Amino acid sequence: MEFRALWDEIAAIGKEPTGYLRYAWTEPELALRTWFRAQAGQRDLAVEEDGNGNLFAWWNPSAEPGVLTGSHFDSVPHGGAYDGPLGIVSALLAVDELRARGVRPARPVGVAVFAEEEGSRFGLACLGSRLLTGAVAPEAAAALRDRDGVTLAEAAGGVPKGHRPDLLARISSFVELHIEQGRALTVPVGVASAIWPHGRWRIDFAGEGNHAGTTLMSDRHDPMLTFAYTVLAANKEARLRGAHATIGRVSVEPNATNAIPARVSAWLDARAADASVVDDLVAAVTARASERATRDGTRVQLTPESLSGETAFDVALRDRIAERLGGVPVLATGAGHDAGVLSAHVPTAMLFVRNPSGVSHSPAETASDDDCIEGVRALADVLEDLAC
Ligand SMILES: [Zn+2]
Repeated sequence: MEFRALWDEIAAIGKEPTGYLRYAWTEPELALRTWFRAQAGQRDLAVEEDGNGNLFAWWNPSAEPGVLTGSHFDSVPHGGAYDGPLGIVSALLAVDELRARGVRPARPVGVAVFAEEEGSRFGLACLGSRLLTGAVAPEAAAALRDRDGVTLAEAAGGVPKGHRPDLLARISSFVELHIEQGRALTVPVGVASAIWPHGRWRIDFAGEGNHAGTTLMSDRHDPMLTFAYTVLAANKEARLRGAHATIGRVSVEPNATNAIPARVSAWLDARAADASVVDDLVAAVTARASERATRDGTRVQLTPESLSGETAFDVALRDRIAERLGGVPVLATGAGHDAGVLSAHVPTAMLFVRNPSGVSHSPAETASDDDCIEGVRALADVLEDLAC
């Protein structure tokens, strides 16, 4: 199997010294889509675009609902190579593997490329799959802006089509292969049980911009202090609950060395095994931020940006896959995926490939070629089982 050869074809696209920059509808991500169309063409797969930026390449298309696999090309800022692209490259190789085995699927087998899964450009994770499934309105998505003020409609070349029940009706099941994003998997391949509930909140800290040299310490209303306290509070509250809380993005106005900031905006990412724990965690962080704001003479406002409840994958499908793969481990994950969005509409499962570093959303993310090849074989086994 030519895993390395195919993998190397995309390795340089969007690669910077600091990691991958493959934001949705930017040049590297568009180059990856062009590459995908060419790969699909070489395999005689019929490519269609759903009006939401998602691509589908079908082998043996027919009126019969088909088995879909695939993932996303877009990355987080300075991300790793495997999160997303591994699922697409593995899907193409699984088609090759099935053909090499002489398999003739009774139903269509599709390879999907979902748009803006990370939400790194427009702030809403799984945007492509949410549009497809009607979980977000096309007009609302069209108006989302990136950091440069470019709207999604401008980037994508128009208002998305939105909900496509006709296309969903053509998917009998969806199986996404993905690199594992922690260290929970100690064998090459595992199957997902569930995705933790998670959400993103924007927190705006407003104070009074002023001169760093002339403003007495006692006269300040510095939102940076409230922000800093909130970061620490979020970490502590998460630890107390066995949950995860992260503030990994921040913007400061005016962002000048010699100015007390007027405003700090930060994004809180919160996840836990149980939705009530996420709610409780965010309530606790809000309470502590507000209390601190009173002391700092600042104001705090929390705005939810995205919320996803727990995703329990289709139990019958999960068990069937685990058995087909010889009893591989079944594990939950704290990471969100398009599979989580799709699972509300079609029987959905995920395969994970071992990540020895346990690091993801970072250039240190890695998987061995041997494990990736095991992943392709497992995916081919699963597709053969489901499509024949
Ligand atoms: Zn991913």
